[in-house]
Amino acid sequence: MAALDGLPPLREVIQRHGLDARKPLGQNFLLDLNLTQKIARSAGSLEDATVIEVGPGPGGLTRAILALGARKLIAIERDSRCLPALAEIATHYPGRLEVIEGDALKVDFQALAKDGPVKIISNLPYNVGTQLLLNWLLPRTWPPFWESLTLMFQKEVGLRIVAQEDDDHYGRLGVLAGWRTEARMVFDVPPQAFTPPPKVTSSVVHLTPRQAPLPCDVRKLETVTQAAFGQRRKMLRQSLKALGGETLLSKAGIDPARRAETLCVEEFVALANAL
Ligand code: SAM
Repeated sequence: MAALDGLPPLREVIQRHGLDARKPLGQNFLLDLNLTQKIARSAGSLEDATVIEVGPGPGGLTRAILALGARKLIAIERDSRCLPALAEIATHYPGRLEVIEGDALKVDFQALAKDGPVKIISNLPYNVGTQLLLNWLLPRTWPPFWESLTLMFQKEVGLRIVAQEDDDHYGRLGVLAGWRTEARMVFDVPPQAFTPPPKVTSSVVHLTPRQAPLPCDVRKLETVTQAAFGQRRKMLRQSLKALGGETLLSKAGIDPARRAETLCVEEFVALANAL
């Protein structure tokens, strides 16, 4: 698999640098560079793009992003054991790969996007993936600092992100993702594609900012969503009782006999604005 970029096969890289996968860091590596290219291509053209990758690990997806022409790639990795392997990639692509050692949850992504919108591409560590997505979705600024998010999640989480009303997977995550983005499933990746294989299937999800924003206070949107889905089988007049119940619902023009999962994102926004 050295043909992609002339760098050594990932198995050899992992062995040479002693990168045995560690579970607490959510390390499930992709060693097939055809697959990592397929993921990177889901982000659209990378020619001249600035990309941020969370968790490059031994560099399978990193190499694909660079081979597909990204002008600049900023990769944030928490595991210092991976840095020598990433330094080899940086040498191979002079001036194009910057590696930041640290916890992506503490990184100011907006500051990294100072030269214009970035594409974020990542095979996310499963234990911080949802929190990172929320960090990228929720800031008040519009348009966001990213032009697209191409992210690998556990399939179950991916289904919740892309879910719309009347879907069993629809809930807080679907409302928050729908508030900011158009989100779609791109393809599934079976456990055996990873080393070591996780227990469940994964999915690549692609999100782009909505054409037009839906103005509302995100904290209010979170409050109504949490209350409504906290008792998802109940009618809204009951589940939203503490927030004003029927009065709130009538202000937002929503039938109090409906249930949370039947409301579209625009209706949740109307509720947040009525709060
Ligand atoms: N990109 C590589 C690939 O596709 O083979 C590795 C993906 S692996 C699922 C997740 C990576 O995220 C690991 O390299 C892990 O060390 C790193 N990681 C875990 N938690 C992190 C955090 N909080 N900040 C930055 N990187 C993290």
